[in-house]
Amino acid sequence: MSERYFPNGMPAPMANTTMLPWWQAAAEHRLVVQQCGACGHTRFPPAPICPECRSDDAAWKDLPGGGEVFTYTIVHRPIAAEQELPYLIAVIALDDSGGLRMISNLVAVAPQDVTIGMRVEVVWEDMSDDLAIPRFRPAPN
Ligand SMILES: [Zn+2]
Repeated sequence: MSERYFPNGMPAPMANTTMLPWWQAAAEHRLVVQQCGACGHTRFPPAPICPECRSDDAAWKDLPGGGEVFTYTIVHRPIAAEQELPYLIAVIALDDSGGLRMISNLVAVAPQDVTIGMRVEVVWEDMSDDLAIPRFRPAPN
């Protein structure tokens, strides 16, 4: 089990048939995005059809797990019991993703130390044996 950043009372994410392969990769601590087999366009969140060329041919591309803070907010209201406040929600510009961004949490950093453009790396929070959630922490220099 990994370090836990949020309490057990946090609502679990919902997985549909389009998102399930993404969650299965996450459970293996692999950060992936869909890549169109026809035009190479990457997309996140996953979708059944490429928004660029309408092809349904797609594969999963592994990302290196780094990125930078595109923007963030500091949250002072809990969504689950026993949640430590404040916590950080950020939009992460993902490295080698074709320009994709992901909404996640920043962990292991004080709110006053976060800056736009800050380098971050994924850190996996294992919620159970088959559910891991990507969070981001400051990348080592
Ligand atoms: Zn395409």
